[in-house]
Amino acid sequence: MSTIFTVAQQKALRKTELLVATACSNPPGALTVETFDQLSDSLCKVADLADFVKVGHPDPAFRKAAEKACINIGTAVEKLNTNVDLCMSLKKLLENKEVLETLDPDTRKVAELLMFDFEISGVHLDESKRGKAVSLNVNLLDLNNEFLNGSLLPNRIEKKALPEHIRHLFSIDGKSIQIGSLHADSPNELVREAAYKIFLYPNSSLLHCLDDLLACRNELAKLVGYETFAHRALKRTMVETPETVMKFLELLTDLMPWDHPYFSSAVRTASLYSPYFSLGACMGGLNMLFSQLLGVSFQNEQPMAGEVWSEDVRKLAVFHETEGLLGYIYCDFFRRPDKPHQDCHFTIQGGRLKEDGEYQHPLVVLMLSLPPPTHSTPTLLTPGMMENLFHEMGHAMHSMLGRTRYQHVTGTRCSTDFAEVPSVLMEFFATDHQVVRKFARHYQTGQPLPKTLLSCLCESKRICGAADTQLQIFYAALDQVYHGKPQNRSTTDILKEMQEKFYGLPYVPNTAWQLRFSHLIGYGAKYYSYLMSRAIASMIWRQCFQKDPFNREMGERYRREMLAHGGIKEPMLMVQGKERIQTLPCKVVAKCILWFGVEQKKTHLNNLLNPCLFHKEIQKWPGEYYCHLLEVIGFVIGFQAVDSPLFSLYPLQGDGGFMGVCPTNLHVFCGFGEGIRLCPSLHPVEGALGVWGPGSFVKGCQVPVRPKQELGSHCQQ
Ligand SMILES: [Zn+2]
Repeated sequence: MSTIFTVAQQKALRKTELLVATACSNPPGALTVETFDQLSDSLCKVADLADFVKVGHPDPAFRKAAEKACINIGTAVEKLNTNVDLCMSLKKLLENKEVLETLDPDTRKVAELLMFDFEISGVHLDESKRGKAVSLNVNLLDLNNEFLNGSLLPNRIEKKALPEHIRHLFSIDGKSIQIGSLHADSPNELVREAAYKIFLYPNSSLLHCLDDLLACRNELAKLVGYETFAHRALKRTMVETPETVMKFLELLTDLMPWDHPYFSSAVRTASLYSPYFSLGACMGGLNMLFSQLLGVSFQNEQPMAGEVWSEDVRKLAVFHETEGLLGYIYCDFFRRPDKPHQDCHFTIQGGRLKEDGEYQHPLVVLMLSLPPPTHSTPTLLTPGMMENLFHEMGHAMHSMLGRTRYQHVTGTRCSTDFAEVPSVLMEFFATDHQVVRKFARHYQTGQPLPKTLLSCLCESKRICGAADTQLQIFYAALDQVYHGKPQNRSTTDILKEMQEKFYGLPYVPNTAWQLRFSHLIGYGAKYYSYLMSRAIASMIWRQCFQKDPFNREMGERYRREMLAHGGIKEPMLMVQGKERIQTLPCKVVAKCILWFGVEQKKTHLNNLLNPCLFHKEIQKWPGEYYCHLLEVIGFVIGFQAVDSPLFSLYPLQGDGGFMGVCPTNLHVFCGFGEGIRLCPSLHPVEGALGVWGPGSFVKGCQVPVRPKQELGSHCQQ
């Protein structure tokens, strides 16, 4: 089996050489970009496949071979990213205005993105430093692997260390017990506690690995000219800098309450729901949803001999009612020994327009760890599993519906801030009563999900929303600090501090959760993306689907304006379309402020001016409001990066209320018309009612104020 990968690698590397020669010898033009995309396609085809096989294949020999292939291709990519001749061919193109003008916008954008890859890899350095950058990168490939593998391994403990009556709930291996997850949905408190302490028990070699990895990332970032690894990672994202991310997180934390209705009723009563969520019913639900929204349906297809890695993998062909075949999804849904407990989506082949004019169909794998069916019962999903299925399917459809010319920017190959938007949006569908009602059927009786259970399920999502957001803020902050300036203390000490600051629950001694934080590898300094994506997904849901989640017109718009473009368009522009940018945030903010009770104006003004009362007020909000708040703040940060002047002052619907955002420190505040002085220059806003976020609640901050006519036009919506 290792030979298969060796052959594939050699083929890809030979093709690479030819393509590099072509790129370097041709005159600059569209062909240059096409050649680069072919280059990336041929390497990605091997690397992406290997990326999946090293995690998902049941045969350890395959996994090993794939791991080796990943490292070899990764090394080749790093060398290409510092190949000066190759970079020059692109540079010549980007510097040639005449030729540049003949290119279509997509081609130009891809050229810029490719150039950026060269820049952050250190192509501008002298030869010895370039060599150093390559070797650091290669070293990182190893460290990444080591950490990723270690983070997924179960911890072992002697059988007799656990009380007898709970042993059978874990997997027993001779004299020892293996614990490979937190068992968070176990109804037994002792099981959860044991799993927490054992699964998170620190492993010293993995702690070292993490230290080395963070140090190596830092060294690399400095070498290529960035202050920290986070600064390098955040270039070209919506937020741009680590400072903005931290502000985003702190702003959110300030607005979150500390109480945790953590175990939602739906989690505790998962067994009540499962009979209604058979895998068949859920897949049927997805099929119905996609066919109504987008005219897309799934068909089971028989894989060819040797095409799949395990017998229980299903192959789905995705068809559009008029466009025909869009691509294939391989569904690897069931638990297997040795298969990581991880829900994820792998791109195996990206879509692109081939040289012969045909479209290269995207191929993806969806990996879940569902219980396999037995001879008497189908696979039954808990509400959490059902939501995860919808989430991962969102990623798959992002790939299926993308129709970019270049694979470099197809589907999920977009800015990390945006990649989770389509999947998180699917979670909204998965917990909407109009959607769930249509597919949840008892697997024995065919009865629909009882109304009380249905509303309880959709409600619990909202309650969990705030607590879950809090947890995500903590993860994101931890990721930022790890990738910021090197610190003279252990990763566990940092975890402890961040957990207390951002999460509020105390650290449990002798645990090292960071060693299970496998997203540190893939996301490195971009874990905040999950929250950012959620803010945007929430906005899309409300704007397009909340009223009617089956609306075809909205579905088509969503596909046309967002999914089809992959990473080629500025995410924030996709969310809105330039012309609508100005009016939407105020609608949401208006809502937030109405909930505040500010519609009764003066009576509540004092409340807003008093930070303590402000916090008390917030405590009373039902969970769902945090989503809205998240939306607002996400928007603030997102739009700032796209078009900052717009963000100075937002009028609210109705009579003269406004929301302001200080362009320099991201304070958000709101007020009413009487406070606005109609002066076009930078002017303090008097009577601003409250500043949300760190800093003073009482004082407004300096913002440019817009003329009345302009404000007026924004108000009409
Ligand atoms: Zn995801």
